[in-house]
Amino acid sequence: MKYIGFEEVKKDGKTYYKNREFGLCSEEEVKKINAGIAEEVSKLKLCPFCNVWKSDINHKGICKECRNKPTKAYAKDHKDRLTERFNCPCGGTYQRRNKSIHFKSKRHIEYENENDPYD
Ligand SMILES: [Zn+2]
Ligand SMILES: [Zn+2]
Repeated sequence: MKYIGFEEVKKDGKTYYKNREFGLCSEEEVKKINAGIAEEVSKLKLCPFCNVWKSDINHKGICKECRNKPTKAYAKDHKDRLTERFNCPCGGTYQRRNKSIHFKSKRHIEYENENDPYD
């Protein structure tokens, strides 16, 4: 899919994009809408406890919902999840809590530039 949440429509020899929320849009319009969506999405952070991308994550990396039910077991589980290691397709590894830092690292950015899906 070229634009998040939009379906491509051919009409009168032109390409349009449509979805339920915005209806039929020209490519110019859908570009603006998608830039807005991307900005909204970039504000979200992954809560490692409920594993959901949320906008209400505090400085400790916990969403509001999970903050309201803290227990000792939860705190340990949370720490384990934060320090869990992942292998990245760029060849590096990162801890869950360092994911966003890793994604901004030189190695990862070089990998992404070489593997740009739109090339
Ligand atoms: Zn949560
Ligand atoms: Zn990476």
